[in-house]
Parts: sequence; structure tokens; C-alpha cells
Amino acid sequence: MSCIFCKILNKEIPSYTIYEDDLLIVFLDINPKHNGHTLIVPKNHYKDLYDIDSYTLYKIMDKAKDICNLINDRLKPNGITLVQNNGSVQDIKHYHLHIIPKYEKETPLTVEEIYNILK
Ligand code: AMP
Ligand code: ZN
Repeated sequence: MSCIFCKILNKEIPSYTIYEDDLLIVFLDINPKHNGHTLIVPKNHYKDLYDIDSYTLYKIMDKAKDICNLINDRLKPNGITLVQNNGSVQDIKHYHLHIIPKYEKETPLTVEEIYNILK
């Protein structure tokens, strides 16, 4: 399996993972748009929104709420955008939900620095 997110969840390549259970893994985006840019990824290889089942979608959104609360608490953004790409705008063909905090003023931190704040 050449999928990079499957390799991350199988621990074949490293990631800044902040949460994991039987169904989901949550790690920091390696090329963040803003401080705290996080991805929620199901452990099964669902391609996109049309492939994934409703129960897993519900669990992803429920976890998104927890992660947004964590980000609000630790990073104090002005708001948070949730994004999920499909089709030609989706680079990695393994379903993932982006959690993207937004700030009026922001000093970019490294992914490692953000990891140490959120973990
Ligand atoms: P999308 O266009 O929705 O498929 O976005 C894919 C996202 O995955 C991008 O924001 C990338 O920065 C991110 N990404 C790619 N490789 C990795 C990786 N090894 N670890 C964490 N995030 C990654
Ligand atoms: Zn995959």
C-alpha cells in the first residue's frame, strides 16, 4: 500500500500524532496553513466522502469537536475552519478532515513547537 496516511497509521513513517484510538488517528499537518493545522484520519483506507460510512463520519466530527476545544484552549485562535477535499482538489486519496485554526495576528511556530503545546 503506497498511501502515505496508511504508512503513518501503520507507524512506517513518523508523524506528530496527538490522538489515536481503534478507529481514528489525529496528527499535525506537516505543511500547516496556520498554527495548529490538524488532520483527523480514519484508520480504514476510505478514499473520500463518497467512500466513507456514516458512523465513521460521525466519529470523525465528534472528535473534531474535542480537537477544536483543545486548540481553542491551548492556541487561542480567533476561529477554526473545517475542510475536507474530494476529487481533483484532494491531494492524498485517503479521507481526512482538516482542522485549520485562524488568527488575527500569528507568529508561525514549527510543527514540533505546536506538538509540544497540544500533546
Ligand atoms: P488534501 O489536499 O486535502 O489531500 O491535503 C493533504 C494534506 O496532507 C496537506 O495539507 C499536506 O500538507 C498534508 N500532508 C502530506 N503529507 C503529510 C505527512 N507526511 N504528514 C502530515 N501531513 C501531511
Ligand atoms: Zn490510506
